[in-house]
Amino acid sequence: MLLNDRVCVITGAASARGIGKATARLFARHGARVAILDLEAGQAEAAARDLGPGHVGLACDVTDRAACTAAADEIVARLGRIDVLVNNAGITQPLKIMEIGPEHYDAVTDVNLRGTLYMSQAVIPAMRQQGSGAIVCMSSVSAQRGGGIFGGPHYSAAKAGVLGLQKAMARELGPDGVRVNAVTPGLIQTDITGGKLTPELKVEIAKGIPLGRLGVADDVANACLFLASDLSTYITGAVIDVNGGMLIH
Ligand code: NAD
Repeated sequence: MLLNDRVCVITGAASARGIGKATARLFARHGARVAILDLEAGQAEAAARDLGPGHVGLACDVTDRAACTAAADEIVARLGRIDVLVNNAGITQPLKIMEIGPEHYDAVTDVNLRGTLYMSQAVIPAMRQQGSGAIVCMSSVSAQRGGGIFGGPHYSAAKAGVLGLQKAMARELGPDGVRVNAVTPGLIQTDITGGKLTPELKVEIAKGIPLGRLGVADDVANACLFLASDLSTYITGAVIDVNGGMLIH
């Protein structure tokens, strides 16, 4: 039990086959009380119920600063504290550079990058007051290798922005006892690609992966557990690749 009685907030964790839900399940198994945040209240509540009693599901659009603050306040009121935040909510779009319009740029940057800022800002006061906390930010191998898998250049840029934000937060929040790390998953089989990734393409991508397979949500959840728990108490500002060796750098 690596997270006994820790209160862990995970954004974008209602998606049934998603990384956030897998992380929520694993954290609950390790004794955490989990707050699942997602766009729809009903889906977030149902996902929390799936984990068992004592967990919370709340509607929270991470692009809405007031909603992030309200969610954090409600979690502190209901669960008493916030020990861990996983900034997992994200969207992607398979566009080429000249296809990216202002609405695409805004949507992708807002959820992935602005959402990471707003939700972190919402939990930092509680973590500072406690003098402890762990924030895990979900970036992507796309940030490191310039996309080329599914997401477009605006997704690569947003996820690279997440790494800059994460490292700057790690530097600023270290003296408060708050650690901030990131995970850079390779291609993980979830619903984020909206069925647009063909079986042929998956086979092609797997050929370039030394471990010979695409990732599953639990592969990423395990890295989040490490970064959220006391196994990583002297690690901050770090980036953990979970990509089967797709990118070795
Ligand atoms: P997913 O689509 O299964 O889950 C994403 C969740 O985010 C959904 O539940 C969605 O409702 C939620 N969400 C979207 N916009 C939101 C908003 N504004 N506020 C709150 N919640 C919102 O996707 P996934 O594959 O599990 O992705 C999880 C994270 O991992 C994302 O940040 C994604 O960019 C990142 N990632 C995924 C992969 C992959 O291959 N699947 C690779 C690298 C990084």
